[in-house]
Amino acid sequence: MKRKRSADSESVAGSRTERGGELALLARIRARAAAAGSSPSVRLGIGDDCALLRVKPGEEIAVTTDFSIAGRHFELAWHPPEAIGHRVLARGLSDLAAMGARPLAALLSLGVPAKLAECSNSRGAKFGEPRQQCWIDRFYDGLLALAGKFHTPLAGGDLAESPIAAADIVLLGAVPRGKALLRLGARPGDAIYVTGSLGGAASGLEIMKGLAGAEKMPGAVGLRIPRKLEAALARHLYPQPRVRQGLWLSKRGVATAAIDLSDGLSTDLQHLCDESRVAAEVNAVALPISAGATLTQALHGGEDYELLFTARPGARVPRTIAGVPITRIGQVVKRPAKRPLVTLISPKGREALEAQGWQHFA
Ligand SMILES: [Mg+2]
Repeated sequence: MKRKRSADSESVAGSRTERGGELALLARIRARAAAAGSSPSVRLGIGDDCALLRVKPGEEIAVTTDFSIAGRHFELAWHPPEAIGHRVLARGLSDLAAMGARPLAALLSLGVPAKLAECSNSRGAKFGEPRQQCWIDRFYDGLLALAGKFHTPLAGGDLAESPIAAADIVLLGAVPRGKALLRLGARPGDAIYVTGSLGGAASGLEIMKGLAGAEKMPGAVGLRIPRKLEAALARHLYPQPRVRQGLWLSKRGVATAAIDLSDGLSTDLQHLCDESRVAAEVNAVALPISAGATLTQALHGGEDYELLFTARPGARVPRTIAGVPITRIGQVVKRPAKRPLVTLISPKGREALEAQGWQHFA
């Protein structure tokens, strides 16, 4: 394996001195990425200047990039490293799902403080001596487990020593030409559906905050999650991107528009309305609220990574797609002259549903 300073499919940048630790780390990541599974989509993965991907005739390539930064998108002191790795990939996969694209490969640029890459015993460990798992290994454990589940090989990336932990992931997907699900395309009269349930990630985050406050000695390797809280935290720590549901929708041509719920229903539905030049009504009582979550969390909490899609009123939308429930939550209406774009209808009456989800620089 060669080393270069440039950002290519296998380089290690950011260090002036040759360090065995880095090369060992890179070799380990390469071996682990290979062990996590190959795919006919990746003709050449980690090891050369570029990865080579293969698509089928008549396919278009969907590309998305997502930046995750310590202190912004995750907390080193709270989140188990496996969950951070999982979430980094889940965000990208969810964007592919929203387009109805088949994952081809992921590319990850990872910057970490040196202490997170220190694995005592990682080199020269005597036979039979357990290697102490370091943060970076556990990060890849989480990322590669999800990659394996969705047949998304890690085909390259970059690794650098950095004052803060940050992960930038690129996801590449393929979709038959003209079949991608777009935000544009919803028409008045369409019904609005969501996959799964909403608010679980936000309610999990609240539990995490409580745990972090109760923890006496916060470390830099994540909180130990009590067994009895694992289920309540699952939606926050290990969200499941709806790749199979997105693929189903694009194959069947059922959806007129789609978006993934990363920033929260109130925000993402506005994005869809903006792109489609329509407005929407959401029926509060119809919302599939996650166990333990509140209506507010279901409406505004982000990071559920469910899909929201619209379909013509007569379209045959099944109750479940690939094992995940599908719920009709409202309808698309004509765009009014003035806001609101999204109206919440509840037993109390009608009210404007303002975007209160996550916004940077807000
Ligand atoms: Mg998205």
